[in-house]
Amino acid sequence: VIPVVNTTQQPPMSQLSTRGTREKLLNTSMIRGARGGEFDNRNVVLQLAKLRAERAELLGYDSYAAYSLEDQTAKDTASVNKLLGDLTAPAVRNAKKEAAEIQAVIDAEKGGFQVAAQDWNYYSDKVRTAKYAFDANQLKPYFEFNNVLEKGAFFAATQLWGITFKQRTDLPTYDPDVRVYDVFEENGEHLAIFVIDPYARSNKRGGAWMSSLVDQSFLLNQKPVITNNLNLTKPAAGEPTLLTWDEVRTTFHELGHATHGWFSKVKYPRFSGTNVPRDYVELPSQVYEMWMAWPEV
Ligand SMILES: [Zn+2]
Repeated sequence: VIPVVNTTQQPPMSQLSTRGTREKLLNTSMIRGARGGEFDNRNVVLQLAKLRAERAELLGYDSYAAYSLEDQTAKDTASVNKLLGDLTAPAVRNAKKEAAEIQAVIDAEKGGFQVAAQDWNYYSDKVRTAKYAFDANQLKPYFEFNNVLEKGAFFAATQLWGITFKQRTDLPTYDPDVRVYDVFEENGEHLAIFVIDPYARSNKRGGAWMSSLVDQSFLLNQKPVITNNLNLTKPAAGEPTLLTWDEVRTTFHELGHATHGWFSKVKYPRFSGTNVPRDYVELPSQVYEMWMAWPEV
């Protein structure tokens, strides 16, 4: 039995060699919430849309999109549509190129079918192997987690802003693998507390995220306590935690969000840290990803 997981993409899609099984998994995942019965969400979604339209109208906006964009950096629907419009042509061009490469592999294997959505992930892996002879696992020994965190992600922050990190073991944590660090300003002043929870556990939400246990606020005289959560596979006792390139990127990404929380300097907690427009919040994290491949780091 292959379980459908709660994300848009289904990870087994890149490994299932039987086309019919891929198709079945894709279709099953796509009709989630729309199969009738008590878990059918279509009416809930419809009601949400109606209530949003009503709210926008009451507040004097043309649409809910216009209402929700006013305090975002994009400001209005015209700029969002322009950005999406500008992206469409190059994105379609790229997708067509990838489809042609995938079709070439299918034809070479005498597959006898046209590439469709259920084939994409499975064959892109094959294209990558054929084109670059690249095996992501070969990189892992170079990315040991402690090194990536302390000599990579922390190091970059020290280079950029002079801030330093010191692990502390006196604070209680909710799991023995959770680590706590003090973060200090360049002048030695205490800036924040950083909590990192690296490993997957059966009762932990999937994915990776940053969160704040305490928001920075001058009003409440609070310094930030920021967490990073990853879902790395915990190695056997005594074995090192080795990361893929993507996991290294995630570690830097989440640390970028953490810096956003540490450097917050606001009066009201409502505006603290990552409480910024949704279309801005990924900027510090995405910029921080850049440092992972920076030669000095
Ligand atoms: Zn992010």
